[in-house]
Parts: sequence; structure tokens; C-alpha cells
Amino acid sequence: MLGQMVAQNILDTDIMYLKGVGPQRALTLADELGVKTYADLLYYFPYRYLDRTRFYSINSINEDLGLIQVKGRITKTELVGEGRNQRFVAWFADETGAVPLVWFKGIKWIKDRFKVGAEYVVFGKPTEFNHQLNFVHPEIEDMAKYQAKPEFSLQPLYNTSEKMKTKMVTSKTIHQLQINLHEAIKNTTIFETLPRELLEKLNLPNLKTALTDIHLPKNQHDLQRAQLRLKFEELFYIQLKLLRLKKIRARANGGHKFEVVGQNFNDFYNNHLPFSLTNAQKRVLREIRRDTNTGLQMNRLLQGDVGSGKTLVALMSMLLALDNGFQSCLMAPTEILAQQHYKSFCEMLAPMGIEVALLTGSTKQSTRTQLLADLASGQLKILIGTHALIEDRVVFNSLGLVVIDEQHRFGVAQRARLWSKNSIPPHVLVMTATPIPRTLAMTLYGDLDVSVIDELPPGRKPVKTIHYNDSRRLQMFGFLREQLKQGRQVYIVYPLISEPKASDLKYLEDGVESISRAFPPPDYAISVVHGQMPSAEKEKSMTYFAKGITNIMIATTVIEVGVNVPNASVMVIENAERFGLSQLHQLRGRVGRGADQSYCILMTGDRLTTEGRKRIQTMVETNDGFVIAEADLKLRGPGDIEGTQQSGIAIDLKIADLGKDNQILMLARDEASHILEVDPNLKQPEHVILDSEIKRRWKYEFDWGQIS
Ligand code: ADP
Ligand code: MG
Repeated sequence: MLGQMVAQNILDTDIMYLKGVGPQRALTLADELGVKTYADLLYYFPYRYLDRTRFYSINSINEDLGLIQVKGRITKTELVGEGRNQRFVAWFADETGAVPLVWFKGIKWIKDRFKVGAEYVVFGKPTEFNHQLNFVHPEIEDMAKYQAKPEFSLQPLYNTSEKMKTKMVTSKTIHQLQINLHEAIKNTTIFETLPRELLEKLNLPNLKTALTDIHLPKNQHDLQRAQLRLKFEELFYIQLKLLRLKKIRARANGGHKFEVVGQNFNDFYNNHLPFSLTNAQKRVLREIRRDTNTGLQMNRLLQGDVGSGKTLVALMSMLLALDNGFQSCLMAPTEILAQQHYKSFCEMLAPMGIEVALLTGSTKQSTRTQLLADLASGQLKILIGTHALIEDRVVFNSLGLVVIDEQHRFGVAQRARLWSKNSIPPHVLVMTATPIPRTLAMTLYGDLDVSVIDELPPGRKPVKTIHYNDSRRLQMFGFLREQLKQGRQVYIVYPLISEPKASDLKYLEDGVESISRAFPPPDYAISVVHGQMPSAEKEKSMTYFAKGITNIMIATTVIEVGVNVPNASVMVIENAERFGLSQLHQLRGRVGRGADQSYCILMTGDRLTTEGRKRIQTMVETNDGFVIAEADLKLRGPGDIEGTQQSGIAIDLKIADLGKDNQILMLARDEASHILEVDPNLKQPEHVILDSEIKRRWKYEFDWGQIS
């Protein structure tokens, strides 16, 4: 026991005291990586491993490879350019070709270091400059020296920031620190965090071995086992937490039983629906109907692309609550969206004499007082609003259903707050228009059941997507002219407002000029919208376009959200290769809202990176938000998932990659679910470790005491 206490203490040691760190570096590590203790460093994992036994031949290298090694000899060195542009170039050749190694900085030091004719290993990232592949500031090492230390055939690569580089803390430095750290904790016990039976069953290495092999792998096999163990553990605990939450909720709280499909629901369905429901809408309503009739609380996530008709599903679910004598509320992430919902609810429900109220941060005090009174008395049945709905003073009489639109911004904890307001929690329906890949949904919302609206209302034509490179600009203009002649409107979107310093990206100011020349008044009128305009002006510009007073909208991505102009049928995106997939999908969603055939034209330069090309290809091939979301997740590295960063919900995965680790995730979910089946309270001796790990990992997120 005493030994274990000591063990804990060593891992809590301030990183400053590790050999090779000291006060200066400790600051850098803390500021840039959040690494403050031994344990933090131990859990700072490599993002990749370089196979140091593998060399590329110079004729086979390209920009997409990332960091690689080549071996060969320096054939000549030269100083090129003057003053600030001066650089040192060493030509490096193997049997297949030659490539320049370039230094802009530290020239004095570097220029006498290398001998022409001697053999070196070069480690770096090939990049293109002036139509020539280069290695800029590569690492370079004597062949003899390289061969003398074969123990790291797999070299771990760690992410570092620019600032760290200026402080001389590189990936290599961190590698060395890991070596020092492992030396320091060689004899330390590290508590196992998974039950032994599970490790045995899945043949996973223990925690200490995994933590060593992840940093200092002796071979590919050990590395893979370490990765599997750590990824599994990470995903397993998330699943265990979510599934447990789901179980506890179902068991402890029960739910309101909506027994009837009543008067209001039927009246609306039969007499007030302006169109017939899509099959997907009907299916989702049936799922909601089934959930709310079980006597358990519903927790359902409804996914459906923009325009798929989620609002109507929300409204009809709220009528279901009403018919069963319950109040319901709909919560939107912004004031504007709340107002939009309020307006459309009023339009649809006024003919039936059903009252709807709106509560936001800007609701007047007098209105608010009355509203809160009506809510508490139960007279007001349907409420729409923003975050204002979860304030403590908002007290419902009998809240039966909560609908959350665009859930991204509402975390699990906030949802918990909503239902803790009542002894029996309301049913919860969470709606999102951002398609989320299954793995991500399972990780963020694994405690929810999922419904999908995978069908758009009839009569909408899918947007046709075309890829043009710059040489076909005139053709694109011709196409715009044709569309404009038919009375349609077009968007042209730029990645930047002003001329960039160090690239040839298209920018809005230049676009305004050239478009005005190509589409002059009086035949054409142009609106401009970008983020640096005063909002009154932005609004005016938008309104002109929405009313059809202008027919061309030149904009940056600020138009991504909230714009609805059904007559706009063309979306042109300049430098489309520079946008992420989900952003491209969102932008494309601005057209195709009317009955006309719409088009999205992706303009790009001639040369694309492999990833850029894949994104464009995906956009041309599919309109399906889910397919795009999957592709997006696969193309991006771990920790770089746009949807979640925007959402403000951190899923801070240290090692698992939801784009690639599907199978491990499924395994983790199965095992978690299996354990909870056998031992729902995690009370068996071998599961106590699980219970305490969950509490340790999420101690701030939940009040577990209250939940269980
Ligand atoms: P979202 O899923 O993006 O919230 P909305 O609920 O705002 O979509 O619906 C988009 C538009 O489609 C609205 O104008 C709505 O009235 C219309 N709509 C919804 N369901 C149908 C349907 N079954 N048939 C035709 N139009 C529909
Ligand atoms: Mg909506």
C-alpha cells in the first residue's frame, strides 16, 4: 500500500524536475502543451511514428508524404540570394535523383557543417517551391552516427507548436524527455485501470507496458498492442459512462406516459397540415410515439439534413404532449432561430386556437412576469425560447417534453439540468442538422437513441455540383449569365476579404471589381456581404438580395448560416479546395431551396493536394450529408473534427481516432454494455475499479450521487 502511495506521488511530480526540463522548459511545456506533471507527459502521445529503417528514393518523393527519410550524399552547396532572401542550398542526391535542402536561418552555422561527398540521412517534409520539391530546414545526420543507434527503429513524432520551435523544444526533444521519464519511473507501479479479466479476454497489455510501448516501441507489434489497449480504454470508458447514464436514467426516473394520440394531434394532421408528411417524418413520429408510451423517459437524437422538415416533427410531438395534458418547450441556440420557430409555430397553431409563447434573453420584464406565471399555473402549454428556458426561475407546471434544436451547443450536463427540474423528467428530443457520423454520434450522444430523417420533402431537386479549374472561368461566367437571364440569383463566395500576403488565393475585394466589370449595371446589381461590415450594412445588403433587388451576392462564409433565398440557384465557391467538407456542404445548402434546378460550382487552382482533391471529388459525387460527414472525419486527423470544435463540447480524445477506429469503438461499446448487463451498479469486486475510474474521469461533469 505504501509503495502505491509513493507511486502516485512520482507521477504527480512537477515536470520541472525531470532530467532535461528545468524551469524555462517547464513553462514552455505547460503553456504550449498543458504538460505540467510527469503524468501529463506520460499521456502526451505521439501522433505518428517514423519507421527509421525505411528510406524513400528521391525520385519517389512528393508533397503528400509528410515527414520522411532519404539517404544519400551532398553533391554541392551554394549560397543563393542576398540579404533577407539569402538562403543556403545543399544538393542532395541518391542513385535516383537529387533534391535541394534549403536553409533560410542559421546559415552561418549550417554552411560549414556538411561535407560534400559524405553520406547523410535526411529527415524532413518535402514541399514544393518554385515548381521544385525541397526539404526546408530538414534534420540531417551522419550516416555513421545514424547507424550507431539502431534501438529506435520506430521514432515517435510529437506535435509541437511554432513557439516551441523558437524555444528549441522539438519533437526530438520530447522524445528524449520521454526516455528520461521512463528511466525515472522505471520502478514505479502504475495502477491498472481495466479489470484483469477484460485484459485477458481481449489479450491487451497492462497499462504500464502500454504506456512504455506507446512512446518507446521496440517494434511494430508492441506498438500496435499498446495503441489498441490505450484506444480501447479511452473509448471504453466513454461508452461505459454513457450507457450507465442511460441505464440509470431509465431505471431511476421513469417517465411520463403519453397514452393517447388525441384531439389536437389528429385535428392538425387531418385539417391543418399544408402537405403530406414524408415517410421519414412519419417513421420518426412513430418512434417518438413509441418512446413516450413506455413509461420510461425518452432521450432521442433526431438527425436530418437542412430542410428535411424537423420542425414539423417537433411541433407534432409537442401536440402529442399537449393532448396528454403536458406542457412542452422548444429550445433554440440563438435568438433569431427561436424567433423563427416562434413565428412558424404561431402560423400553424393559431388557426387551431393554441397559444404559443416566446421566452428569450430580450423578453420584456412585464411580458416575462406574466409568462412565468402562466407557465407555473399550467395555463401556457407551449413555450419556445433560448437558453433562457433553463434558468432556475422558469418553473413549469407539468413539463412533459423538451425539444432542443441544433443540440450541438447543449452538453450532456445541460440536458441533465433540464430534467432535474422535475421529479419525473420530461422526454427529451434533440434535433440536429449537422449530420454526424455514427462513431461520433455514439461518442457524443451514446446515451441517446437515434432517429434519422433521410429523405427530403418531395419536389426538391438535388443540387448539381460541378468542378472547374481557373482556366474555365469564362465558361463559368457564361453559365452565370445564362442563369441570371432566366431571372435566377447567384452567390459567389471567397475565402478571404483582402489580398493575402503570401498566397495567390482569390479574395473578395478583387472579386467585387472583376465581377462588376463582367456583370455591369444596369443589367446586373450586386450585393456584398462580409464579416468586417457594420451589421446594419450587412443586413441591408442581405435584404436587397433576399428581395431580388440585387441578383449577385458576393460574400465570404458569413452567409453560411441562416440565409434563405429560394430564388438563388447558383453557388460559386472560389478556392473551394481551401474549405473543409462540412463548410462546403453548408454553403451548398444555401441553394436548392426552390423548385428550380440549382448548381454549385467549385472553382479551384490547377494543382490540388491529394486531400483537397478528395474533398472536391466527394462534393461532386454526393449530396448526402452523412456520406460527407464520414468522409470529413476520415480525411481529418484525430482531434480536428470541425463539428465538435464548433459545438463547444469537448471530446478530447488523446489517442483514438473516430474516423479510423470504428471497430475498436464497437468492441468498447459491446464490452461496456456486456459488463453493465451483468453488473449494472458496478458493485462486483472486479468492477469496483470501473466505478472509481468513471468518477475520477468525469468528476466535474456529473453529480453521480444525484443521478444514482
Ligand atoms: P429543418 O429540418 O432544416 O429544420 P424545416 O423543418 O425548417 O427543416 O423544413 C423546411 C421546409 O420544408 C419548411 O418550409 C417546411 O414547411 C417544409 N416541409 C416540411 N415538411 C414537409 C413535407 N412533408 N412536405 C413538404 N414540405 C415540407
Ligand atoms: Mg431547423
